[in-house]
Amino acid sequence: MRRAALYRRVSTPGQVDGFSLADQLERLSRLAEAEGFGWEDFCDPGHSGEKLEERPALMGLLGRLDEFEAVLVVDESRLARSEAVAFLIRQRLREAGVRLVTPQGETDLSDPDESLMSAVRTLFGVAEQTRRTQRMTQGLDRAAQEGLWTGGPAPVGYRLVKTPAGHTTLEVDPEGAAFVRMVVGMVVDEGLSVYETAKRINALGYRTRKGTPWEHRNLGHHLRRRHLLGEIPYNSAGGPVVRQFPPLIPEARFADLQAALRRNARPAPDKRHLYPFSGRVACECGGRLVGTWRNDRAVRCYVCNRHVNAAITGRRCTARPHWHRADRLETLLWEPIRATLADPDRLQAAALAHTGQEGPDPAELDARIADRRRRLDLVTDERVRTFRDARHLGLTNPEIRRILSQLSEEHDTLTRELRTLEQQARLAASRTDPIAQAHRLVQAAAVALGHPTLGDQAALIALLDIQATPVEGGYEVTGSIPLTTEDGTPGKMLTGELPR
Ligand SMILES: [Zn+2]
Repeated sequence: MRRAALYRRVSTPGQVDGFSLADQLERLSRLAEAEGFGWEDFCDPGHSGEKLEERPALMGLLGRLDEFEAVLVVDESRLARSEAVAFLIRQRLREAGVRLVTPQGETDLSDPDESLMSAVRTLFGVAEQTRRTQRMTQGLDRAAQEGLWTGGPAPVGYRLVKTPAGHTTLEVDPEGAAFVRMVVGMVVDEGLSVYETAKRINALGYRTRKGTPWEHRNLGHHLRRRHLLGEIPYNSAGGPVVRQFPPLIPEARFADLQAALRRNARPAPDKRHLYPFSGRVACECGGRLVGTWRNDRAVRCYVCNRHVNAAITGRRCTARPHWHRADRLETLLWEPIRATLADPDRLQAAALAHTGQEGPDPAELDARIADRRRRLDLVTDERVRTFRDARHLGLTNPEIRRILSQLSEEHDTLTRELRTLEQQARLAASRTDPIAQAHRLVQAAAVALGHPTLGDQAALIALLDIQATPVEGGYEVTGSIPLTTEDGTPGKMLTGELPR
């Protein structure tokens, strides 16, 4: 009989989404029987879920994948809360040819683009988390640790209140929270797209805090953020810090919401309406280039916003030309981004520069090992040659030994160095450093970076917060996470000039 592994765990203590361990067993065993599987149950009753080694049942399952055709979970978030761990697990399942099945359907484990995005997100997510942890332990954000609110309006679903000591903190706003749950219901239970949801809530008379109708982009932004789980970052002097407030919806509901957002998304927008660099490139006049479709030439292009708004603002664009063909500009600006993303070592250097962390540098270690091996080969060859020549010249053995002694000494030194370096490399490889782990993930995913779609590009460009400025001879391209130059030092990328 075909066999499936049921995997159960609770993700938060006192989970309120109705997926208790018993519920999960019931749903999963029914699913297994419906699919014609004999099954074996794997259950981690603890709540942590962050580290694989704290989940013995999952570890046991991963060690026995060859016995199963499928792994059944009530939703993907059961596998892992951390995207890095989830990615590793999906990779293991894919390698073992095991299907991942949930009551909602089967998860495609093979999509390379999704793996790439996931790996890149993981890398920077891990970097961000490391940085956060450092800050918290350095005690730079005591107020945040004490759950106080240090500025800005309350996020949707929350309101500001004063503590008895006169500080400000956040609490759930019942009315706002009800609004959030209603919107989540429209997406998850009714299957509306964000666009349809925005239209619906506007028609119902709901407005944003500013009193304006909801735009679908803005609404989508709110629905994708972990704010809904009470994980709300604020910008301290040293960077963003995340604090935990009471969640508006349970974690499993949030996972359902993210799945529904992906599922309900309308088909990819017509290419003529997708401009990944819109608003991210400066015009020579000081304005910004925005994407637009030129009907007269039937071509995608980027045009200076000062030119577009001249009639309203009275400010004119002084650059000539004030517009560029989109495909040319995008090709030019994408290149340095692609070069950084496609090179795991440079990507890791970027992440390290981002966190300001010293990390193991496997690339440098590898280079030094290769160098020692090469020199060792040379010395060995030289020894053989010298020995042969000395014999031809009729030298005596003691004379030959003396001539060879220097080369022998060099040979021994190189051998010793090589052993030490190889040991260091083994150590570095065995470290469970999250950055090194992310490095390996990206290495695997970089292969998929060959031909990203414009949508993939747009997502990466937004993730990296890419900005471009015209300079002599081309554009300078920068990201919030430093792109790196070829020699691995973080810095600005210079790219070439556009054909006029
Ligand atoms: Zn301009």
